[in-house]
Amino acid sequence: MTEKSLNEQALQARFHDVEENLKHIEETITKAAEKSGRKREDITLLAATKTVPVEVINHAIESGVRCIGENRVQELLDKYDGYRKDLADVQFIGHLQTNKVKYLIGRVSMIQSVDSVKLAQEISRQCIKHGTTMDVLLEVNIGREENKSGVLLENLDELLENVAQLPAITVRGLMAIPPAGASAEESFAYFSKMHETYIDISRKNTDNRIDMRFLSMGMSADYAQAIEAGANMVRIGSSLFGPRDYSK
Ligand SMILES: *Cc1c(COP(=O)(O)O)cnc(C)c1O
Repeated sequence: MTEKSLNEQALQARFHDVEENLKHIEETITKAAEKSGRKREDITLLAATKTVPVEVINHAIESGVRCIGENRVQELLDKYDGYRKDLADVQFIGHLQTNKVKYLIGRVSMIQSVDSVKLAQEISRQCIKHGTTMDVLLEVNIGREENKSGVLLENLDELLENVAQLPAITVRGLMAIPPAGASAEESFAYFSKMHETYIDISRKNTDNRIDMRFLSMGMSADYAQAIEAGANMVRIGSSLFGPRDYSK
């Protein structure tokens, strides 16, 4: 067999896995949504695509995924032209340095990882420069982990107030990544705390630059619990695409 047909065979196998994985994820999301009094269509599935080749990402899109997220700017730029952007929305979900913001303007529909006024100011500044706006989520460090992105809960109100004043940004909700290795009960408690915070902000808010629509939490290991606790967006990587290969 030629190398090309071998590669082609491996790709077809991977496509098949993605389809099977997606079926399982869809069933799990539907059950968890129903358990929490909602429907499948109330939950957005975002495919976390880091390290995944564009052909495989596009197969997921062609199989029904409508939203993808990258977490590194360079990787997003490398793959950007290849995505089926006619079918799927592209978002940014990773830690973002202010000097990289300019590359995301006009390319992604939402930045999920805003955790400082400085970063938000740069997003707003670049948007104005390009005559556009950006939707953002504020990332909360719900597990109070050192060296982890996200604002601490007690500083969230102040961040929200400052970001809402910026002219070219709309805050669409919150994002969180609870500590890795937490038990199911611990994760559920973190997710519930996030949901409570999300609801509080939605209720008391009257500013039209804050429009709470997304509570983005839950990854491969814990998305069912996240949905049961109130998430309406889950970010799933390895359960959809298989284990990540960082060697390439
Ligand atoms: C990689 C990643 C995910 C998905 O992680 P999995 O455990 O593979 O599902 C979700 N959110 C962010 C921000 C990520 O970087």
